Amino acid sequence: MYRVDSMKAEEFISHQEIMETLAYADENKNNRELVDQILDKARERKGLSHREASVLLACEDEEKNQEIYALAEQIKKDFYGNRIVMFAPLYLSNYCVNGCVYCPFHAKNKHIPRKKLTQEEIRREVIALQDMGHKRLALETGEDPVNCPIEYVLESIKTIYSIQHKNGAIRRVNVNIAATTVENYRKLKEAGIGTYILFQETYHKESYEKLHPTGPKHNYAYHTEAMDRAMEGGIDDVGIGALFGLELYRYEFAGLLMHAEHLEAVHGVGPHTISVPRIRRADDIDPDTFDNGIDDDIFAKLVACIRIAVPYTGMIISTRESKQCRERVLHLGVSQISGGSRTSVGGYVEEEPEEESSAQFDISDNRTLDQVVNWLIEMGYIPSFCTACYREGRTGDRFMSLCKSGQIQNCCHPNALMTLKEYLEDYASEDTRQKGEALIRKELENIPKEKVRKIVEKNLTEIEQGQRDFRF
Ligand code: SAM
Ligand code: SF4
Repeated sequence: MYRVDSMKAEEFISHQEIMETLAYADENKNNRELVDQILDKARERKGLSHREASVLLACEDEEKNQEIYALAEQIKKDFYGNRIVMFAPLYLSNYCVNGCVYCPFHAKNKHIPRKKLTQEEIRREVIALQDMGHKRLALETGEDPVNCPIEYVLESIKTIYSIQHKNGAIRRVNVNIAATTVENYRKLKEAGIGTYILFQETYHKESYEKLHPTGPKHNYAYHTEAMDRAMEGGIDDVGIGALFGLELYRYEFAGLLMHAEHLEAVHGVGPHTISVPRIRRADDIDPDTFDNGIDDDIFAKLVACIRIAVPYTGMIISTRESKQCRERVLHLGVSQISGGSRTSVGGYVEEEPEEESSAQFDISDNRTLDQVVNWLIEMGYIPSFCTACYREGRTGDRFMSLCKSGQIQNCCHPNALMTLKEYLEDYASEDTRQKGEALIRKELENIPKEKVRKIVEKNLTEIEQGQRDFRF
C-alpha cells in the first residue's frame, strides 16, 4: 500500500506505514546499537529516512540525545553557517469559506471583522514593511473564491513587486494560500513567486477530516497532493509544514519526512523549506482544547531531528514562538525567521483595537525587526535579507546543487553580508548599525576565496555611496 512515488495521497502518506514506523521507533528507542548506526549515517550529511529519523525522535537515552543535538548543531553550521534569513508575513484577506477548527478565520466565526486589502492599502502595507527593512514577504490569505480569487492574489503580487519606496524593494514574494489547481499554480509561477507554502496541518487523514469539517479544505487528498500540482505547474520551491498540537507530533514528523521523500522521488527535488508552527491563542481559539500540544523540550528535539533528516531543507520559525524558544531552536537547525510581524489584515499601517482585531493568532515575539536583527547580531548570527538565488534562477534542484557543492560560503555568505549592509545603511538604529558593522568586518575574513572577498569589500563601499542590490 505504501509507495513513495505514488501520486495518491493515501499511498505516499500511508497511515499503515506511519503506524509501523512509530512501532519500530518505539521498539528501538533504547536500542543503542541502532541509534549509533543511524547517527553514523546521519554524520555523512546525506539525510535519513522517515523510519531512521523516527527512531532518533523517540530515543530516550539522554547521552544519545545530547549527540543528536550536537550533530544537528554541526549540520546547521556546515550547511547554513551563521546566516539567518529574515522575512515577514503579509495578510491580504481573512475571508474564508473553510471550517478549520483551530483558525479564527473559519467561516462560522461571525464575530471577527472580515477585511480584504485594496491595492492602495497593499501599497501602504508594503511601504511600511519596506521602511522596516524587509525584502522578503510571505503572502497569507484565507480561502474564498469570491472575495479572494486567484486574480486578486496575482494583481496583489504585481502591485507588491512594483513598489519602490526610497531604497526599499520587495525582492521575493512567497505565497501561502489554499490548495489550488495546476493552472493557478502556473499563474503564480508566471507572477514570479518565490516559494509556494502550504501546511498540511495534519497528515492523519481521519483527524484531518474532523479538523476541517466543512469547505473545500475538507478534501484530504486534494490538500495533500497540492505540492505535486504546484510542481506540475512549474513551481519548484515548495514549503511544507504541519500545525503541531493537532495530532501526535511523532505522527506528523513521519508524515513530513514521507512527504519530503515523495517530492524528491517524483520531482527530483525535495521541499525548499519546512515550517513547524504550533497552535496559538486566537480570537475564538483556545489552544488548550487541543490535546496534542508539545512543550519547548519536545519542540527543540523535533527541530533537531528535522535538521538531521533533511540537511538541505531550510527550516522556518515564525513569531508564534517566543524569543527564548526561538533562541534555542536557532542553534538546532532553523534557518529562516520572521520579525516585526503582524497577523492582522492591514496591521502594519494601523494597529487595531484588541476587541476589533482581524488577526489570525497572537504573536509571542512582539519585538520590532530592528530589535530582532540586533539580537541576532549579538548572538553572532548574520541576519540576511538575501533573495539572490531565486532572482538568479537558482531554484529547485539548482539551489540544492549549490548547497551540495559546498559553494555556499562563497555565495550565500557574501550575499548575506551585503544585504545586511544595506539594512544597516537604510533602516538600522545606531546601536544595531555599530554592532552590525563590527560583525561584517569580522565575517569578511570568513570568505574563503580572496577574489570574492575583494569584490565584496568593493561592493560594501559602493553600498555606503548609495548603490544597492549587489549579489552573487
Ligand atoms: N488559508 C490558507 C491555508 O489554510 O492553507 C493559507 C494560510 S493560513 C492564513 C496560514 C496557516 O496558519 C495555516 O495553514 C495554519 O497552519 C496556521 N494557523 C491557523 N490557525 C492558527 C492558530 N490558531 N495558531 C497558529 N497557527 C495557525
Ligand atoms: Fe481559512 Fe486557512 Fe484559516 Fe483554514 S487555516 S480557516 S483555510 S485561513
